[in-house]
Amino acid sequence: MTRLECTVTNCLHNAENRCCKQAIVVDGSEAQDNFETCCGSFDQNLEGSYRNLFKTPENRLEIDCEAINCVYNSDRRCGAERIGIVGDGASEPGHTECATFTLR
Ligand code: SF4
Ligand code: SF4
Repeated sequence: MTRLECTVTNCLHNAENRCCKQAIVVDGSEAQDNFETCCGSFDQNLEGSYRNLFKTPENRLEIDCEAINCVYNSDRRCGAERIGIVGDGASEPGHTECATFTLR
C-alpha cells in the first residue's frame, strides 16, 4: 500500500489533497518521463457538485500502474512508499501525472 498525495483538487475523488478511492490506476505504458504518465482514475468534478459528499480520504491505497519503465514498478504494481499525483486544473486524465515517476 502506498501513501498518496494528490493536488488534483477538481477530481471527483479528491478531498484534502488526498484520494478517496481505495485503488487507482496509473497509465503510461511507454512513459519515459513524468508527463507521459497520468492518473487513469481521474473523474472531473463538474461544478463541484459532489464535493464533500460521502468522501473519506484514504491514507494508503493500492496503485495498479502501467508505467513499467518506472523504478518503483513491480509487476504493474507501484512499490513506492509514497507518491504524488499532480495536475491542478485538470479536465481529463491526460492533464494529470505521477510526479514520482523515475526512469529505470
Ligand atoms: S486524480 Fe487520481 S489520485 Fe487524484 S483524487 Fe483523482 S482518482 Fe485520486
Ligand atoms: S511511482 Fe512509478 S510505479 Fe508508482 S505510480 Fe508512479 S509511475 Fe507508477
